[in-house]
Formats: sequence, structure tokens, C-alpha cells
Amino acid sequence: MKAPLSAKIKHSLSVSRSCFPLLRLHFASKTTHIPRSLLPNTVPGCPDRPWPESNPFAARENLVLVDLEIADGAIRSLCAAGTSSIELSSPTAEEIDLKRGIVFPCFADLHTHLDKGHSWNRSPNLSGSFEEALARVAADGKHWNAEDVYRRMEFSLKCAYAHGTQAIRTHIDSYGEQAAISLGALKHLQQEWRDRLTIQAVTLVTLDCFEAAEGEKLADRFAEFDGGILGGLPLMSSELEGQLDRVFTLAKARNLDLDFHVDESGDPSEMTLRFVAEAAIRHGYEGRVVCGHCCSLAVQSQEAAQKTIDLVRAAGIGIVSLPMCNLYLQDRDQAASGLFTQKEKSMASLQLSHPHSALARHHSGSRI
Ligand SMILES: [Zn+2]
Repeated sequence: MKAPLSAKIKHSLSVSRSCFPLLRLHFASKTTHIPRSLLPNTVPGCPDRPWPESNPFAARENLVLVDLEIADGAIRSLCAAGTSSIELSSPTAEEIDLKRGIVFPCFADLHTHLDKGHSWNRSPNLSGSFEEALARVAADGKHWNAEDVYRRMEFSLKCAYAHGTQAIRTHIDSYGEQAAISLGALKHLQQEWRDRLTIQAVTLVTLDCFEAAEGEKLADRFAEFDGGILGGLPLMSSELEGQLDRVFTLAKARNLDLDFHVDESGDPSEMTLRFVAEAAIRHGYEGRVVCGHCCSLAVQSQEAAQKTIDLVRAAGIGIVSLPMCNLYLQDRDQAASGLFTQKEKSMASLQLSHPHSALARHHSGSRI
């Protein structure tokens, strides 16, 4: 016998009290908090009526107490708590009391490495440094057969789903035969999870790997994957512009979006983000590029950073910052931390000014 909906919700809330994926279920929840930023300014149907404040705590936290009906994974009706009754049309629908829990849209996790996940036990990065992370992952690669990759990826998907994620983009180490092995495993998982998770996959290689016929092959492989994206690791060199032109050309020919790992260091001379932005404009690929990490931006001069940020804005590039990853891995010798502290405040407002619109496009379609 199937567990009742209320039991499922209770279980989900015990995993994460603030979010849960309940697609294709039909229920009305009473007394649910929703962040004010996710709601229209006024009560639906009453353009002059602001949302009422339920209690001082909710007001301080910018939460609004609502009654909510969800059907087929989308909000069917919404009103201020207790102000009107939600009529449930379906006999299978349930009414539940979320006891002032908070409801969010499901998460869209835009930057993951499912192929690297859950390998710590056999390959721990004991120094916590960026360099050891790279070395450990490289050494761990000997285990990455189809079965191993599938098992670790599947566990990551289960964890993500249990905590309310709806969409995941993963970078895939794509050197040599590994691309076929990892992408093959991910294809199976994509099929198995197709009714619960949207999964995208991005090429992760240094850009020289896109040269010659090998590059065409790699691009074709990702173009065949439903949700495939081209990308990689641009490195500062005299070749960079040409390499970017090549990747953009391959992406355009296959109508693929692009996603790059840029400037993951405390070295201010690393500014591949600017080159990517210039390439996006040069190729008319505005709005189709995402860049992750962007650490060195924080240690560059105000003038240099502003020039890059203006280009990023013009290119419509979505920015993914990875604070958990980079606070852990970066600057363990403290070389850049002084510079970072000085620039943190001024950079914060600049960084906030451009990424959200671009990022929002990649988060669009999120449902409760
Ligand atoms: Zn990454």
C-alpha cells in the first residue's frame, strides 16, 4: 500500500524542512510560509491589497503566510492564509497543514561534477589545497569505469532529489575514452530520472582538445546528448583567442550553449573571463554562455575588474560563483586574502549587478 501524501511530506521535511519535490501530486497546504520575494507585490485579484503580516518573526524574515494549492507540480491557487477557502476539485487531493514551514521553488543546481562526487573515501584531499584536489582526482580516474561512475552519479542524484533539486547541470571530464564512459552512464541515469530531474552535461577539457578532428568528435558526442553543452577550461596564453573561436564555432554549428570554468585562482593576471566575453560578442552568442568560479576577479584592480564586468554584462553571460568549493580550496597560503578583503565590498555590488538576469534564465521553469 502506498504511503499517504502527508507521510511523504513528513519524510521530505525530515530530510530538509524547507523544500521538497512533489511533482504530479495534488494537495492544498494551509499555513505555509513563502518568501515575499517570490510573491507578487499584492494579493492576487486585489491590486490594492498588500500581503498581511502574520507575526513578527515572519515579518522580520520577509515571509508571508499563505494557503496554497499545488497540482501537477505547479501552483494552482494562492491566497493569504485563512482569507478564502481553496476548493479541491480532485477526489484524490489531500489537504495538509505544513505548520508554518517554508516552501521554495525546487533548486536548479547549475554547476556540479557528478563524475567526481563521492570519491573522498578512496581519494581524500588531506591538505585541502586546489593542487591536491587536481592530483587526487587525476589519480582517482583509474577507478572510473561505467559501473563506478554510474554508482556515484546515481547517489548524487538521489541526494539532490531528496533535498529538493529539480534540475542539475554537471561538467564531465572528457579526456580520451572517459567522455564516452561517463556520458554513457549519465544517459542511463537521465532516462531513469526523466520524470523527476532535468539533467544537462558539459564538456570539461582544456580548450586545445577541441582542435582538429578530435574536437568535432567531442562536440558531436555532446550534441547527441539531450541537454548537451560545450565548454571547458580556458587558460591564459597567446592561443586563447583562437581556441575560443574554435569552441564557439563548434557550438554554433550544433546550436549548443557554452559553459566555461574560468580563473579559479587568486592570480590577478588570470582573466580568461574577459576573453570569453569578447568571444561571445564577436560570435553573436550573447545570452548563451555561462562562466563558473571567476575567483581572480576579486583580486584584480578595480579598473581591470570593471572592464571585464562591463563586457560580461554586454555578452549576457551568466555567472556561477561557487563559494563552498572555492572558500575551501583557494588561497590556503593567504597570498590573495589581503587583496580580497580590500576589494570585497566594492566587488560585491558589481557582481550582484549582472549575474542574476542571466542566471535566472537557466533557473526558469522551476516549479514548487
Ligand atoms: Zn567545476
